Amino acid sequence: MTTSSNPAPSPAIDVAGVRFAYDDTVAVDDVSFSVPSGEILGFLGPNGAGKSTTIKMLTGQLNPDAGTIEILGMNMPGQRETIQARLGVCFEEKNLYLSMTGGENLVFFAKLFGIRDFTPEPLMERVGLSARLDDRVSEYSKGMRQRLMMARALINTPDVLLLDEPTNGLDPVSAIGIRDLIRGEADRGAAVVLTTHDMHEADTLSDRVAFINQGTILTIDTPDNLKLAHGQRSVRIRTRDGDGVDELVIPLDGAGAGDRIKDAVSAEGLMTIHTEEATLEDIFVEYAGRGLAG
Ligand code: ADP
Repeated sequence: MTTSSNPAPSPAIDVAGVRFAYDDTVAVDDVSFSVPSGEILGFLGPNGAGKSTTIKMLTGQLNPDAGTIEILGMNMPGQRETIQARLGVCFEEKNLYLSMTGGENLVFFAKLFGIRDFTPEPLMERVGLSARLDDRVSEYSKGMRQRLMMARALINTPDVLLLDEPTNGLDPVSAIGIRDLIRGEADRGAAVVLTTHDMHEADTLSDRVAFINQGTILTIDTPDNLKLAHGQRSVRIRTRDGDGVDELVIPLDGAGAGDRIKDAVSAEGLMTIHTEEATLEDIFVEYAGRGLAG
């Protein structure tokens, strides 16, 4: 985490007691959290948990029925336009202009932000699309469109980035590229909120994770703290024993763990050593009584 050279009021995002219902369906209920500049907060939860609805209230697309949202010290939706000028937003359903080239799309959106003399090349380079600058977006793959939307989210060098499932459906290489880009934006000083139903993404990308289920936040903490507080860490050591295999599981938190591991790995016939710890999905199940699928 680093601090911006021109820091926003801290925290960059402050949400208190927010609620939203679509007619009779309460999608988000009494949700509170804050995000300082330079931090990535990941919302982890299954489909229908209320992640997108929460993000849409932050972007100003939906107004909360109750509670307050402050972004960069301003009220959303009260100061919607001023805030939106400083937001970067990436939503899967957001449309790109398919008949325009990737470069033309970025120039178009830069104009909407009132940015003069915008050149799309550096951003296209950052998302790995330099070679496709002059191709129509209709010829882009899904992954390329997703990367272009990420580039679009960065046009105004945003202080706050709001990303809904930013790597959903991407091939692994594109997903890694997008995650690096997001980390770079946080290191630059942006406050980042992203949603995911992928525990690996939440784990590798988030400074803190909020578990969300049925419209409420169950807990917020760092991935490491969640794993330390739940489940036992252990080392599983397999050694060859004649024609068979011996397996030894040594809890890392037990007394004398270091010596036991040393003895086990210096024995004859060492095959494999694995460290094991609770995954975020295991811990999510403990909190929510259900998994992340569906
Ligand atoms: P997530 O992003 O975690 O998948 P959503 O915020 O999209 O969850 O949905 C939360 C709840 O609100 C779900 O019960 C969903 O069915 C409902 N919902 C979402 N969008 C709409 C809508 N446009 N109209 C009615 N209900 C909706």
